[in-house]
Amino acid sequence: MHHELSIAERVKIFLENNFDKNQLKDIKRIDIGIGKLVMADKENIREAFDMIKKETVFNEVEINFITDELRYECKECGEKFSSADYELHCPKCGGNLKVLTGEEIYIKNVERSPNSK
Ligand SMILES: [Zn+2]
Repeated sequence: MHHELSIAERVKIFLENNFDKNQLKDIKRIDIGIGKLVMADKENIREAFDMIKKETVFNEVEINFITDELRYECKECGEKFSSADYELHCPKCGGNLKVLTGEEIYIKNVERSPNSK
């Protein structure tokens, strides 16, 4: 739960740093990109954020999670590609791969009310 709480805190700080008070009130939804390899519990992040948001002006905001594809790089030829599956070999040369991303959490999109100016 501790880890999830700090993620929820980071979402709050991101919003406060990027939007002014009036804009914050118009935010409806935040899409959070979550790497496939992230070990945090999404429901716990949501619960933690619901708790934190009560004391803010954006207390109506909903969190939506989008699980990201994995990003690979071939150790042999340098080919980079994405896949939703766990890949073992490069599609181009058959070489060994390393995973580039899949462990991060970031704000993908902030959805604001359509009638806001
Ligand atoms: Zn390759």
